[in-house]
Amino acid sequence: MIQIESLHKQFGSYEAVQGVSLSVPKGAFLVLVGPSGCGKSTILRMLAGLEAPTSGTITFGGNTVSDGGRGWVIEPSRRDTGLVFQSYALWPHMTVAGNIDWPLKVAGLDRDKRCSRVGEVLDLLGIGQLAARYPNEISGGQQQRVAIARMIAPKPGILLFDEPLSNLDAKLRVEMRTELLRVHRATGATSVYVTHDQVEAMTMATHVAVMNAGRIEQFGSPGELVARPRTAFVATFVGTPP
Ligand code: ATP
Ligand code: MG
Repeated sequence: MIQIESLHKQFGSYEAVQGVSLSVPKGAFLVLVGPSGCGKSTILRMLAGLEAPTSGTITFGGNTVSDGGRGWVIEPSRRDTGLVFQSYALWPHMTVAGNIDWPLKVAGLDRDKRCSRVGEVLDLLGIGQLAARYPNEISGGQQQRVAIARMIAPKPGILLFDEPLSNLDAKLRVEMRTELLRVHRATGATSVYVTHDQVEAMTMATHVAVMNAGRIEQFGSPGELVARPRTAFVATFVGTPP
Protein backbone atom coordinates (compact mmCIF):
# COMPACT_ATOMS: atom_id res chain seq x y z
CA MET A 1 0.00 0.00 0.00
CA ILE A 2 1.21 3.51 -0.87
CA GLN A 3 0.22 6.39 1.36
CA ILE A 4 1.07 10.01 0.56
CA GLU A 5 0.26 12.57 3.23
CA SER A 6 0.27 16.38 2.71
CA LEU A 7 3.18 16.26 0.30
CA HIS A 8 4.80 19.56 -0.68
CA LYS A 9 7.80 20.29 -2.89
CA GLN A 10 9.33 23.72 -3.18
CA PHE A 11 11.95 24.68 -5.79
CA GLY A 12 13.23 28.08 -4.63
CA SER A 13 10.13 30.25 -4.38
CA TYR A 14 8.12 27.95 -6.69
CA GLU A 15 5.86 25.33 -5.14
CA ALA A 16 5.68 22.47 -7.67
CA VAL A 17 3.65 20.15 -5.39
CA GLN A 18 1.15 21.88 -3.10
CA GLY A 19 -0.22 19.44 -0.53
CA VAL A 20 -0.94 16.12 -2.20
CA SER A 21 -2.51 13.28 -0.20
CA LEU A 22 -3.64 9.93 -1.51
CA SER A 23 -3.62 6.27 -0.66
CA VAL A 24 -3.79 3.21 -2.91
CA PRO A 25 -3.97 -0.49 -1.99
CA LYS A 26 -1.36 -3.11 -2.90
CA GLY A 27 -1.73 -4.22 -6.52
CA ALA A 28 -3.33 -0.93 -7.64
CA PHE A 29 -2.45 0.69 -10.94
CA LEU A 30 -2.45 4.39 -10.02
CA VAL A 31 -2.25 6.89 -12.87
CA LEU A 32 -1.17 10.49 -12.24
CA VAL A 33 -2.52 12.49 -15.14
CA GLY A 34 -2.50 16.21 -15.87
CA PRO A 35 -1.05 18.94 -18.07
CA SER A 36 2.63 19.66 -18.53
CA GLY A 37 4.28 21.19 -15.46
CA CYS A 38 1.55 20.19 -12.96
CA GLY A 39 4.01 18.22 -10.79
CA LYS A 40 3.56 14.61 -11.93
CA SER A 41 7.25 13.76 -12.38
CA THR A 42 8.15 15.57 -9.17
CA ILE A 43 5.78 13.29 -7.22
CA LEU A 44 7.19 10.21 -8.98
CA ARG A 45 10.74 11.31 -8.15
CA MET A 46 9.77 11.71 -4.51
CA LEU A 47 8.24 8.20 -4.55
CA ALA A 48 11.51 6.89 -6.02
CA GLY A 49 13.57 8.72 -3.38
CA LEU A 50 15.37 10.83 -5.99
CA GLU A 51 13.91 13.99 -4.51
CA ALA A 52 13.14 14.83 -0.87
CA PRO A 53 9.77 16.38 0.00
CA THR A 54 9.84 19.87 1.49
CA SER A 55 7.16 18.62 3.87
CA GLY A 56 4.79 15.69 4.14
CA THR A 57 5.35 11.95 4.29
CA ILE A 58 5.34 8.88 2.03
CA THR A 59 4.80 5.40 3.44
CA PHE A 60 5.02 2.04 1.66
CA GLY A 61 3.19 -0.80 3.42
CA GLY A 62 3.17 1.18 6.65
CA ASN A 63 6.90 2.01 6.57
CA THR A 64 7.80 5.68 6.27
CA VAL A 65 10.23 6.09 3.35
CA SER A 66 10.20 9.92 3.06
CA ASP A 67 9.58 12.43 5.81
CA GLY A 68 9.86 16.08 4.77
CA GLY A 69 9.37 17.25 8.36
CA ARG A 70 12.39 15.33 9.60
CA GLY A 71 14.27 15.98 6.37
CA TRP A 72 15.17 12.44 5.41
CA VAL A 73 14.43 9.83 2.77
CA ILE A 74 15.33 6.18 2.44
CA GLU A 75 17.72 6.04 -0.50
CA PRO A 76 16.38 4.85 -3.90
CA SER A 77 18.18 1.48 -3.87
CA ARG A 78 16.68 0.52 -0.47
CA ARG A 79 13.03 1.41 -1.01
CA ASP A 80 11.67 -1.49 -3.10
CA THR A 81 10.90 0.66 -6.16
CA GLY A 82 11.79 0.30 -9.83
CA LEU A 83 11.67 3.22 -12.26
CA VAL A 84 11.23 3.46 -16.02
CA PHE A 85 11.49 6.75 -17.92
CA GLN A 86 10.43 7.97 -21.32
CA SER A 87 14.05 7.65 -22.45
CA TYR A 88 14.98 4.05 -21.88
CA ALA A 89 18.42 4.73 -20.39
CA LEU A 90 19.84 1.31 -21.24
CA TRP A 91 23.58 0.75 -20.89
CA PRO A 92 24.82 1.00 -24.52
CA HIS A 93 27.91 -1.16 -23.92
CA MET A 94 25.93 -4.07 -22.46
CA THR A 95 23.77 -6.61 -24.28
CA VAL A 96 20.06 -6.91 -23.54
CA ALA A 97 20.77 -9.79 -21.14
CA GLY A 98 23.62 -7.80 -19.59
CA ASN A 99 21.36 -4.82 -18.97
CA ILE A 100 18.77 -6.99 -17.23
CA ASP A 101 21.45 -8.83 -15.24
CA TRP A 102 23.03 -5.61 -14.00
CA PRO A 103 20.61 -4.73 -11.12
CA LEU A 104 20.77 -8.39 -9.97
CA LYS A 105 24.57 -8.20 -9.87
CA VAL A 106 24.33 -4.98 -7.87
CA ALA A 107 21.94 -6.78 -5.48
CA GLY A 108 24.61 -9.48 -4.99
CA LEU A 109 22.71 -12.49 -6.38
CA ASP A 110 24.80 -15.51 -7.37
CA ARG A 111 25.32 -16.41 -11.01
CA ASP A 112 22.76 -19.25 -11.19
CA LYS A 113 19.96 -17.24 -9.62
CA ARG A 114 20.71 -14.29 -11.90
CA CYS A 115 20.74 -16.43 -14.99
CA SER A 116 17.37 -17.99 -14.22
CA ARG A 117 15.78 -14.64 -13.30
CA VAL A 118 17.09 -12.99 -16.52
CA GLY A 119 15.54 -15.90 -18.47
CA GLU A 120 12.21 -15.46 -16.65
CA VAL A 121 11.86 -11.75 -17.39
CA LEU A 122 13.06 -12.14 -21.00
CA ASP A 123 10.22 -14.65 -21.42
CA LEU A 124 7.67 -12.47 -19.63
CA LEU A 125 8.41 -9.55 -21.97
CA GLY A 126 8.68 -11.80 -25.03
CA ILE A 127 12.23 -10.66 -25.89
CA GLY A 128 14.25 -13.86 -25.42
CA GLN A 129 15.44 -13.73 -29.03
CA LEU A 130 17.07 -10.33 -28.36
CA ALA A 131 19.21 -11.43 -25.40
CA ALA A 132 22.57 -11.13 -27.15
CA ARG A 133 21.86 -7.88 -29.02
CA TYR A 134 23.04 -4.41 -28.01
CA PRO A 135 20.54 -1.56 -27.41
CA ASN A 136 21.47 0.16 -30.71
CA GLU A 137 20.57 -3.07 -32.57
CA ILE A 138 16.91 -3.15 -31.46
CA SER A 139 13.84 -0.93 -32.03
CA GLY A 140 12.47 1.72 -29.66
CA GLY A 141 9.58 -0.51 -28.61
CA GLN A 142 11.99 -3.38 -27.94
CA GLN A 143 14.26 -1.06 -25.94
CA GLN A 144 11.30 -0.07 -23.78
CA ARG A 145 10.55 -3.76 -23.15
CA VAL A 146 14.17 -4.26 -22.08
CA ALA A 147 13.95 -1.24 -19.75
CA ILE A 148 10.79 -2.74 -18.19
CA ALA A 149 12.44 -6.17 -17.90
CA ARG A 150 15.44 -4.58 -16.18
CA MET A 151 13.14 -2.74 -13.76
CA ILE A 152 11.18 -5.84 -12.70
CA ALA A 153 14.17 -8.23 -12.57
CA PRO A 154 14.94 -7.55 -8.87
CA LYS A 155 11.19 -7.96 -8.05
CA PRO A 156 10.42 -4.48 -6.68
CA GLY A 157 7.06 -4.17 -4.91
CA ILE A 158 6.41 -0.75 -6.48
CA LEU A 159 6.78 0.01 -10.20
CA LEU A 160 7.14 3.67 -11.22
CA PHE A 161 6.60 4.71 -14.84
CA ASP A 162 7.21 8.25 -16.15
CA GLU A 163 5.53 8.57 -19.57
CA PRO A 164 7.08 5.28 -20.72
CA LEU A 165 5.18 5.14 -24.01
CA SER A 166 5.42 8.71 -25.23
CA ASN A 167 8.36 8.05 -27.57
CA LEU A 168 6.54 5.25 -29.40
CA ASP A 169 4.29 5.53 -32.45
CA ALA A 170 0.51 5.49 -31.94
CA LYS A 171 -0.04 1.83 -32.84
CA LEU A 172 2.75 0.54 -30.62
CA ARG A 173 1.58 2.78 -27.79
CA VAL A 174 -1.81 1.07 -27.78
CA GLU A 175 -0.21 -2.41 -27.90
CA MET A 176 2.14 -1.55 -25.07
CA ARG A 177 -0.72 -0.44 -22.77
CA THR A 178 -2.02 -4.01 -22.73
CA GLU A 179 1.49 -5.37 -22.41
CA LEU A 180 2.30 -3.13 -19.45
CA LEU A 181 -0.89 -4.11 -17.63
CA ARG A 182 -0.08 -7.76 -18.22
CA VAL A 183 3.38 -7.28 -16.69
CA HIS A 184 1.93 -5.26 -13.80
CA ARG A 185 -0.50 -8.08 -12.98
CA ALA A 186 2.12 -10.81 -13.40
CA THR A 187 4.44 -9.11 -10.88
CA GLY A 188 1.67 -8.43 -8.32
CA ALA A 189 3.33 -5.06 -7.72
CA THR A 190 1.68 -1.70 -7.07
CA SER A 191 2.26 0.66 -10.01
CA VAL A 192 2.32 4.43 -10.31
CA TYR A 193 2.10 5.58 -13.88
CA VAL A 194 2.57 9.19 -15.03
CA THR A 195 1.07 10.42 -18.29
CA HIS A 196 -0.59 13.45 -19.83
CA ASP A 197 -2.64 11.18 -22.13
CA GLN A 198 -6.27 10.99 -20.93
CA VAL A 199 -7.06 7.85 -22.90
CA GLU A 200 -4.04 6.05 -21.47
CA ALA A 201 -5.10 7.12 -17.97
CA MET A 202 -8.73 6.11 -18.28
CA THR A 203 -8.07 2.75 -19.94
CA MET A 204 -5.18 1.57 -17.76
CA ALA A 205 -5.91 2.84 -14.24
CA THR A 206 -7.57 1.22 -11.27
CA HIS A 207 -7.14 4.61 -9.53
CA VAL A 208 -6.67 8.01 -11.21
CA ALA A 209 -5.40 11.26 -9.72
CA VAL A 210 -6.19 14.19 -12.02
CA MET A 211 -3.61 16.89 -11.27
CA ASN A 212 -3.57 20.58 -12.00
CA ALA A 213 -0.97 23.13 -10.89
CA GLY A 214 0.59 21.08 -8.09
CA ARG A 215 -2.66 19.78 -6.62
CA ILE A 216 -4.99 16.83 -7.09
CA GLU A 217 -8.29 18.04 -8.56
CA GLN A 218 -9.92 14.66 -8.07
CA PHE A 219 -8.95 11.14 -7.08
CA GLY A 220 -11.04 8.05 -7.82
CA SER A 221 -11.69 5.17 -10.17
CA PRO A 222 -11.96 5.99 -13.90
CA GLY A 223 -15.71 5.20 -13.67
CA GLU A 224 -16.23 7.63 -10.76
CA LEU A 225 -14.39 10.41 -12.56
CA VAL A 226 -16.49 10.05 -15.68
CA ALA A 227 -19.79 9.69 -13.78
CA ARG A 228 -19.16 12.38 -11.16
CA PRO A 229 -16.43 14.84 -12.16
CA ARG A 230 -16.05 17.30 -9.27
CA THR A 231 -14.73 20.28 -11.25
CA ALA A 232 -15.02 21.61 -14.78
CA PHE A 233 -11.30 20.90 -15.22
CA VAL A 234 -11.80 17.20 -14.41
CA ALA A 235 -14.91 17.01 -16.61
CA THR A 236 -13.01 18.44 -19.56
CA PHE A 237 -10.04 16.24 -18.84
CA VAL A 238 -11.97 12.97 -18.72
CA GLY A 239 -13.93 13.94 -21.81
CA THR A 240 -17.33 14.73 -20.30
CA PRO A 241 -17.45 18.56 -20.34
CA PRO A 242 -20.44 19.99 -18.46
P1 ATP B 1 5.52 17.18 -17.94
O1 ATP B 1 4.18 16.58 -18.30
O2 ATP B 1 5.89 18.29 -18.85
O3 ATP B 1 6.60 16.16 -17.77
P2 ATP B 1 5.23 17.34 -15.01
O4 ATP B 1 3.81 17.36 -14.56
O5 ATP B 1 5.97 16.06 -14.92
O6 ATP B 1 5.29 17.93 -16.50
P3 ATP B 1 7.25 18.34 -13.21
O7 ATP B 1 8.44 17.88 -13.94
O8 ATP B 1 6.87 17.61 -11.98
O9 ATP B 1 5.99 18.47 -14.18
O10 ATP B 1 7.50 19.86 -12.84
C1 ATP B 1 6.58 20.64 -12.06
C2 ATP B 1 7.10 22.06 -11.98
O11 ATP B 1 8.26 22.10 -11.17
C3 ATP B 1 7.49 22.66 -13.32
O12 ATP B 1 7.10 24.01 -13.36
C4 ATP B 1 8.99 22.53 -13.34
O13 ATP B 1 9.58 23.56 -14.11
C5 ATP B 1 9.35 22.66 -11.87
N1 ATP B 1 10.57 21.89 -11.54
C6 ATP B 1 10.71 20.56 -11.64
N2 ATP B 1 11.95 20.17 -11.24
C7 ATP B 1 12.59 21.31 -10.88
C8 ATP B 1 13.91 21.59 -10.38
N3 ATP B 1 14.79 20.61 -10.13
N4 ATP B 1 14.21 22.89 -10.14
C9 ATP B 1 13.31 23.88 -10.34
N5 ATP B 1 12.07 23.68 -10.80
C10 ATP B 1 11.70 22.41 -11.08
MG1 MG C 1 7.06 14.94 -16.30
